[in-house]
Amino acid sequence: MVYFGELRPHKGKIHIIKDRCKGCGFCVEYCPKDVLELSKEYNAKGYHPPFIKDEDNCCYCQLCETICPEFAIYVTLKNEEDQGEKEQSRP
Ligand code: SF4
Ligand code: SF4
Repeated sequence: MVYFGELRPHKGKIHIIKDRCKGCGFCVEYCPKDVLELSKEYNAKGYHPPFIKDEDNCCYCQLCETICPEFAIYVTLKNEEDQGEKEQSRP
């Protein structure tokens, strides 16, 4: 059984496939948590792909993944071990 006290917000792990990106900036513009920014580097197509500014802020809303026209970004759910939030045993 899950108790309310055990509920934690989702955290996302972001994956960027740089060479698919066309540098449109949609993911950067629409991320509600301001997690992404366009980099100054060029990918193989000559575009500026995004980079992750602060992954800890990612709430796993998957908007970037949904909005990307090139399927160049996707997000997976971080598990509790990744977050270092292993459940402590109860007394
Ligand atoms: S999943 Fe949501 S919060 Fe995380 S980077 Fe994408 S748009 Fe931003
Ligand atoms: S939405 Fe997709 S194509 Fe556009 S900048 Fe982001 S990763 Fe690149």
